[in-house]
Amino acid sequence: MIREIVKMGNPLLRRVSRDVSEEFVKSDEFAQLLLDMRDSMKHYGGIGIAAPQIGVELKVAIIELGENNRYGEDIRFPFQVFINPEIEYLTDSLSAHWEGCLSVPGLRGYVERPEKVKVTYRDENFTKKEIIAEGFLATVLQHELDHLFGILYVDRIKDITKLIFQKEYEVFIQGE
Ligand code: ZN
Repeated sequence: MIREIVKMGNPLLRRVSRDVSEEFVKSDEFAQLLLDMRDSMKHYGGIGIAAPQIGVELKVAIIELGENNRYGEDIRFPFQVFINPEIEYLTDSLSAHWEGCLSVPGLRGYVERPEKVKVTYRDENFTKKEIIAEGFLATVLQHELDHLFGILYVDRIKDITKLIFQKEYEVFIQGE
């Protein structure tokens, strides 16, 4: 079911989400939560979504990067579920991208983040997994995981003049 997206200003986005138990992951309620997250992400054109963005304060995020994503990045990443993720930064060097967020509609912001990360997490079967990611995928992971800790990408913009509208982004940045 497509759910309404919780928008910036709602205190729910600013809270630290709770860890998810194995018992819950095996429940029908969890299966429904994943379906709702995926339906909502696809409906609103996102490449990732975190449970708090549909009003559920649990440490669950999903990412799916298709061919024609709105970020114009030539990268594919099959649907993946991240439960109780922990992040480790593998480098001091930064990579910067123009980020957007379903909870901050109509805007883009230029954010620098560590270029390479390792994420350990549980998948939808509660199997322990880890992934090492670089570049844009590392950014997407950090963005989604931030949601589980009450952080939005706008918090991480160093130069606030680089918070702009999506339409202006298309004309003045993408069109360059
Ligand atoms: Zn977001």
